[in-house]
Amino acid sequence: MSSLEIKNLHVAIGEKEIVKGFTLTINSGEVHAVMGPNGTGKSTLSKAIAGHPDYTITSGDVLIDGQSILEQEPDERARAGIFLAFQYPSEIPGVSIANFLRGALQARMAEGEELDASAYYKRLYQKMDLLKIDRKFTSRSVNDGFSGGEKKRCEILQMAMLEPKFALMDETDSGLDIDALRIVADGVNAMRGPTLGVLLITHYQRLLDYIVPDHVHVMYDGRIVKSGDKSLALELEAKGYDWVKKEFAEANAR
Ligand code: ADP
Ligand code: MG
Repeated sequence: MSSLEIKNLHVAIGEKEIVKGFTLTINSGEVHAVMGPNGTGKSTLSKAIAGHPDYTITSGDVLIDGQSILEQEPDERARAGIFLAFQYPSEIPGVSIANFLRGALQARMAEGEELDASAYYKRLYQKMDLLKIDRKFTSRSVNDGFSGGEKKRCEILQMAMLEPKFALMDETDSGLDIDALRIVADGVNAMRGPTLGVLLITHYQRLLDYIVPDHVHVMYDGRIVKSGDKSLALELEAKGYDWVKKEFAEANAR
């Protein structure tokens, strides 16, 4: 079993502190949902964990199995088991999905080791079938001209191929219609298991009808202000985020 520990993490963009003391431990096998209003630092948190260079970790730590990853480059973090599904995936014209994923898998192998092409395609098609992605897609450029839903499915396909220990999914539900949402959720649920830990970032509780989280956390002003089980998500859906903001303001006024 593995653990991803986020300890009192502070993250700044330039001079501005965005994440302000975020603490959470995710064990493999667990799905943690982080919900919160826009601008609260959810994407900043996930990008900082993945090692995005624009985000400066000013204090705190992120550890996999007790080992800090903060000195590691993004590719080393990926090899250590971190995967980030972007809220806004980039388009990469000229690079086919098949070559992109092959390169990503090859990059994780030891020097001198060669990815077996037929085994690779077998696995790729198996995962594409699971996510109901047309095989024609393998020759298309990564995300180039894709619809919102296609981009998100492509992110999940990458996740399925890379088999991370910890998946950070940043609003994977945004831009999806209900059918695409189901397909994405089915894909994640199929990957769910004792070797995968998930941090599921979402603004709305709709996704959580399909991917039922073990824990729900409310993020506000750069940190977790409330934690609970899946009923907390329903409460947020019914009441909105205003009560969280109000409680927060009252606590700060004291
Ligand atoms: P969320 O994902 O919860 O909506 P973000 O992490 O995207 O929140 O943003 C948190 C805050 O950081 C916002 O005020 C946003 O404007 C700011 N921010 C995010 N990315 C950048 C950036 N690259 N440069 C400057 N400010 C940013
Ligand atoms: Mg965001």
